[in-house]
Amino acid sequence: MPKTLAYIALWMMLAMAVGYWTTPTAGWVLLTAGLSLMVLASGRQLTQIRKWVTDFSASPPASVGPWDEIIAPIYREIRRNSAHIKELDQHIDNIMLAAEALPDGAITLDADMMVTWCNKTACTHTGLDLQKDRNYSIFNILRSPEFNKYARQSTWPEPMLLHHTAHDHVERALQLQLTRYGADQYLVVTRDVTQVEKLETTRKDFVANVSHELRTPLTVLSGFLETLHDIPREEISDEQRKHYLDLMMQQASRMQAIVADLLTLSTLESSPTQAGEPVHMKEVIDRALEQAKLLSAGQHVFVENIADDLYIKGIETELASAVSNLLTNAIRYTPKDGTITTSWYLTESGLACYSVQDTGIGIAAQDIPRLTERFYRVDRGRSRATGGTGLGLAITKHVAMRHNAELHIQSRIGAGSIFSLEFPASRVMTPPSP
Ligand code: ADP
Repeated sequence: MPKTLAYIALWMMLAMAVGYWTTPTAGWVLLTAGLSLMVLASGRQLTQIRKWVTDFSASPPASVGPWDEIIAPIYREIRRNSAHIKELDQHIDNIMLAAEALPDGAITLDADMMVTWCNKTACTHTGLDLQKDRNYSIFNILRSPEFNKYARQSTWPEPMLLHHTAHDHVERALQLQLTRYGADQYLVVTRDVTQVEKLETTRKDFVANVSHELRTPLTVLSGFLETLHDIPREEISDEQRKHYLDLMMQQASRMQAIVADLLTLSTLESSPTQAGEPVHMKEVIDRALEQAKLLSAGQHVFVENIADDLYIKGIETELASAVSNLLTNAIRYTPKDGTITTSWYLTESGLACYSVQDTGIGIAAQDIPRLTERFYRVDRGRSRATGGTGLGLAITKHVAMRHNAELHIQSRIGAGSIFSLEFPASRVMTPPSP
């Protein structure tokens, strides 16, 4: 501005000098021309400034005379502000990315419980579609009287459990926690606890099953003990006493078998998997066959087809347990004179296969998928009568998993069964040199 005033003063002095030395009219003409030029230049500068004002992201006009001094600080402030806005945008982007990456679902609600935002996990959990459901009530989306009741509380110290089926038709157990934040806004955190719930049910079932399995022999055992304790010596014959003691021993060994299998199962579940050593499977199978033949007591026909030079890398004790479980089952579920064929061979695709085929009672198709569940038996009475614990196939399945093997079961009622363990080619080994 001072520059402009100096310019006007200079021009006026020049006009006065011209008016003094020539004619006053010439002075006035010069002054008018100078001021007009100034007005025109200012008009042009203001047009440039107006254009810039509509788009602050562009650089300001290069030179706008006296306006330069006003525009420069404004432009500096604008630049500072836009850098700050950029930084804030970056922060918001980071927060949104973090919210998306959360393993839990997050839904924000306004004061009227209308959805304002949610992350992808919440969409999967609840079936929310933010495009469609934004500004819709959460109650219409979850449609659950339990959630309605929970949300109407004034505080939410505990989360609630909701069984919810979203659009993908998968029923999930969701843990929902509502919190108030900011000025009457709400946050719902959703967590998928379906697996946790399943594990908890399995654990409860397992404890109930173990208790039941042990209680039965224990009841029988204590019954006989009471009888022996209460009956006077002279009222019971030696033969009768021996009979009672035999029955008690049977029950005690049944409990021992259950506890031993439970321990095996727990060791398999808790110990880390190891690559193992080369195992000469023929030796392992031969040992199991010896035991099996003792159990069969000559009642079955045995056919053996066992490769001698086929080794696998594994844990011998675990493999021995799986091999003998399948053989023992074949004997226990095959009536007298049935045939049991044991094979150990390399398949065309390079897998090592152990299979036990029997001509026994067979298994109905609907039972096959459940056989490896702990304590699952098709015929509880028959399993118990033959000394079964209901854990043999669960153990075998675990051993298979720890050796990257697959357990296959083929069976038909009345026609017999084939149980086979297929070990991957990566476990197959040539015999070690002597
Ligand atoms: P168990 O000790 O009762 O035999 P397993 O886990 O070894 O327990 O087997 C589970 C159930 O599978 C058995 O109770 C039986 O009903 C069925 N099963 C297993 N092997 C055979 C087989 N070879 N033939 C018929 N049924 C079998």
